[in-house]
Formats: sequence, C-alpha cells, structure tokens
Amino acid sequence: MTDTLTTTTPLADDVRAALQACGVDLSVVGGDAQVASPITGEPLIGARLDTVADIDAAVGRAAEAFPAWRDTPAPLRGQLVKRWGELLTEHKEHLATLVTAEVGKTPSEARGEVQEMIDIADLAVGQSRQLFGKTMPSERPGHRLQEVWHPLGVVGVISAFNFPVAVYAWNTALALVCGDTVVWKPADAARLSAIAVDALLAKAVSEAGAPKGIHQLLLTDADGSRKLVEDPRVALVSATGSVRMGREVAPAVAARFGRTLLELGGNNGAIVAPSADLDLALRGVVFAAAGTAGQRCTTLRRLFVHSSVADQLTKRVVAAYESLAVGDPREDGVLVGPLVNQRSYEAQQAALAAAREQGGTVLAGGDRELADAHPDAYYVRPAVVSMPDQTAIVHEETFAPILYVMTYDDLGEAIALHNAVPQGLSSAIFTTDQGEAERFLSSAGSDCGIANVNIGTSGAEIGGAFGGEKETGGGRESGSDAWKAYMRPSTQTVNYSGQLPLAQGVTFI
Ligand code: NAD
Repeated sequence: MTDTLTTTTPLADDVRAALQACGVDLSVVGGDAQVASPITGEPLIGARLDTVADIDAAVGRAAEAFPAWRDTPAPLRGQLVKRWGELLTEHKEHLATLVTAEVGKTPSEARGEVQEMIDIADLAVGQSRQLFGKTMPSERPGHRLQEVWHPLGVVGVISAFNFPVAVYAWNTALALVCGDTVVWKPADAARLSAIAVDALLAKAVSEAGAPKGIHQLLLTDADGSRKLVEDPRVALVSATGSVRMGREVAPAVAARFGRTLLELGGNNGAIVAPSADLDLALRGVVFAAAGTAGQRCTTLRRLFVHSSVADQLTKRVVAAYESLAVGDPREDGVLVGPLVNQRSYEAQQAALAAAREQGGTVLAGGDRELADAHPDAYYVRPAVVSMPDQTAIVHEETFAPILYVMTYDDLGEAIALHNAVPQGLSSAIFTTDQGEAERFLSSAGSDCGIANVNIGTSGAEIGGAFGGEKETGGGRESGSDAWKAYMRPSTQTVNYSGQLPLAQGVTFI
C-alpha cells in the first residue's frame, strides 16, 4: 500500500466511492502504479503492478479452469454472463464515474460505453444457445458430415485506453459463453475501471458457482503484456490498440502458431456529396470528428467535400468547432474533455506543424486551453485543417482531434482518395443520391470494415461485427459471426453404412 491511498481530492473521493460500490476492497487496490486523471492531472489511487511471476500464475489459473468451464453447457455459461450484465446495469453509474475520472470521457459518453457492455452481455446470453455448426451433405452413402464449434482455451485480451471497459466486455462476454477463460491486460491509464469491472465479474462467478479461475486481471505495462502474448498457453490474443502495438503482437503470436484478433488504428474518412443534407452532415461530422476529443478508433479524421458545397460546409464546421464547449467533462454542457496525456497533446501539435509544412491551413482550433487552471491536464480545441491534397501527415492516425478537409469533383476520385491510406476501419458518405450511396457501399467502394450512409464514422452498435481491414488488423468483435473467433471448428464425419467407401471415389483395400 502507498500513501496515494490517503490522497483526498474530490475526484479521488468519487473514484474511491465508485470502487467500493462495485465491491472492490480498497485495502488490496493500493500499489505503485499511479493513475492520474486527465481531467486535472491529479493522482487518483495507485494500483498494484503485477510481476512476471504473477502473469505466469494468472495464465496458469486460467488454463487450469478451462476444462471445467469448457465442459459446462453453453446455456449455463450464458447464465453467468446474464448475471454479469445485471451487475453492470446496477453499477452503470459507478463504472461511468470511473471511466470519466480515468480517461476523461463526458459522463454521457462514459455511460454509453458501459451500456455497450450491457448490450454485449445481452447478445452473448442469446448467443449461448446459438453456437450453431452446419450439417453438410456427404458424398458418401450412409455418412453424416457436420461441423461442431468447440471452446478454444485461454483468451488473452489486451485493451486500449480509449474504450477501457467496453472492448474487454465485447471479448469477454462472447469468450465466456463460448467456453473460454480470459486473462485481461487493461490499458495502463484505466486500471481502476478494470478492477471494478473485474470485481463485478468475480461476484457473478461466485454466485453462479463457476470456476474462479475463468477470469484473470493483469495489472501490468506493455512489457508484462508481451509475456502474455508470448505464452503458449494463450490460444487467442485479442489485442486492441495502435498499429505499432499490432506490429509487435502479431508476429510474436504467429511465431508460436497462436491466433490473433487485432483491432488496430483507424484513419477514418467521410465523403460529403453535392446532394447531401448539409444540416445532417454537419452534425454527423462534428460528433464523429470532435466527440470523445478525437480519441475514438472510429473518429473522423479525413473529410472529402464536393467542391460545390465545400465552402458552405467548411464554414459551418469551423463555426461549430469554435462554439464547442471544451473543459472538465463533468461540467454541464461540456462536449470535449481532455486529451489522455501530454504525449497526445504533443502528437497533436507535431501533426499540426507537419500539416502546415505540407500546405495545410488551420481553420479552427488546435490550441491548448485551460492551461492556467489545469497545468497538468491537456485540453485542446479540436482542429479543422484545410489540406490541398492528401499529404503524408493525412495518411497517419494522430490520436487527437484533427479533421483534415479536402475537396473533390468526381466521386470515383473521392473514393480512390478515401481508400488510399494504410488503415481501413470506418467510413461514411453523406448523400441523398441512392446511386452514390450504393457505389460507396459496393465492393468497388469503401475498403473499410465499416461503411455508413448518412451517419458519421463513429458510434457503432454491438449487433454488427466491428473491425477493419489493412493495417487495422482484420479482426471482428461483438456481433454477427464474431463469436467464431473464440471457438475452433471440428469437422466430423460419421459412417453408419457398415461399408467403407472412400471420398473422391478412391479405392484401396
Ligand atoms: P497502444 O497501442 O499504446 O496500447 C494498447 C494496449 O496494448 C495497452 O494495453 C498497452 O499496454 C498494450 N501494448 C502496447 N505495446 C504492446 C506490446 N508490444 N505487446 C503487448 N501489449 C502491448 O494504444 P492506446 O494508446 O492505448 O490506444 C489508442 C489506439 O488504439 C489508437 O491507435 C486507436 O485507433 C486504437 N484502437 C482501436 C480500436 C479498434 O477497435 N480498431 C479500438 C480502440 C482503440
């Protein structure tokens, strides 16, 4: 325990109360891993830091719990997730308080994040009775050919700071109903939210009489996370974060023939066509680009506006940006909270400098605000930058609020520009021309995992599979068929013919 546990500030008080309400024993939380709130820069509560031996032991416990959990009928596994979902619902406000304190989201967005956890728990409960395999006609008489989905083993979940709890729940609710056990390495910035979420799952596990080891929480840094990645007992590593992280994780897991599910960086674009409803486009663009202070993987970063409406729309976006309330996200009316840390602020400033050098003009925002009131917190007004074309800096994901605006004349040209970046997560078109919308959604259109019409790039629902292509990593999480990533298919042939006909008409003995 460290003296950080005695720190008393209003934020730390809120955090302490929220942790206790979620059943966390504060006497076991304390440790050297300091979590500072991006809202004020003040320290919250220090969390423990796991050692290499702790990581090894946690994976061992998850591996040991696997056979009993695998053999528990899937609908019963679903009952555990149902209870977890109820507890998440009961503690929605407490969890949202922790998310706001640790990563600076507005309470509305923090509640939305917790709601995603509740939604995926609902989906997973239904899924627990629908782990369907197929039956295929066999070419051999008196044979049955079928595919059965089996649990995979231990799933390692590595999560990013900007969706500190929802992405864990996307993975864990499904992995648990699929019969897997889970080891979670949360983001360093969000260890307290993780402790609370894990405590609620522990409560559900204990009430359901499920094996205790099925969920493990690792409070460690990127180095500790590497140990998890390299551990051959971890069948699937589901990693959410930057492309840089994915470049390290993917080869390390492949070297031991493990599986990965990668949800990496995005560089999301939207096209505004001449026929677009500009009122709707304006709201869609501003929420997607400035919401969550530009710190969503699906944040809109590139806007391609038809030259006939470019001046009009850009002026309105600039005016909207200038009126956005930036500040302490807990205050009424504030829409843009802080950047997560100084590094993010410096990355934003570097990107703006590069954009200027590459011919861009900053039309709004980009400056630090509230530095006097909060010298250790980093508030910036989201920036709008007019670019003459899609230069090198526009190809990069800068994880801060910068919207690059470019113009186009021909839709084919706009789609080509849109697809000309290395990432492929989310995309959108604003148009009332159905032909244009269909073209954007076709295989010759957006090359992203998510393609929207008359909606911005962010704010996905959990029912659809979530993820992206190219450097975004190709993984899919949450709804649709994403559950299959957490299971292994077994192709089974049963011969009840009393003969031994061989496939492809082969004859032997
Ligand atoms: P990050 O890559 O710095 O860290 C993500 C997680 O990976 C953290 O828990 C970190 O400790 C861990 N990590 C880092 N290097 C590692 C390594 N070599 N081996 C194992 N673990 C390692 O990302 P961040 O700053 O926390 O989050 C922002 C990034 O995440 C952005 O690029 C954003 O687009 C991306 N993101 C993507 C999605 C998606 O679904 N595609 C969702 C959320 C965030």
